[in-house]
Amino acid sequence: MDEVCDIVPSNKGNNKINVRGYLMVKERNREAIFYWCCAKRKSEGCKGRAVTTLCNNLHYLRSCTDHNHAPQASDAGVAKLTAQIKLFQKKFILTSHHLMLFVEQLAVLENQKCHLSHKILLK
Ligand SMILES: [Zn+2]
Repeated sequence: MDEVCDIVPSNKGNNKINVRGYLMVKERNREAIFYWCCAKRKSEGCKGRAVTTLCNNLHYLRSCTDHNHAPQASDAGVAKLTAQIKLFQKKFILTSHHLMLFVEQLAVLENQKCHLSHKILLK
């Protein structure tokens, strides 16, 4: 229940969110409860809907229904998000690469320590 939906900034204000890759347009809200409908409701006749709770400027997903189409990966906001994820993945690969190097060096050090302790034990 702690799934956060990203707000997709638009010129008309933050009235769009990304729910699992689907772009949703704000329909109405009752205090902190927001009701969303699919951005492709008109173009695709999609009946996809979502309900979120706004808490600390974050939209927590309460419920959502299925869509009759694939997620809008080509939409600007979603594309931006995908780019961010790719960037993150790049960073992550870089980090894990560095981590590998670190582990290797640590292994070398451990080996040396073993040799040292062997030497000490042999003495
Ligand atoms: Zn839809």
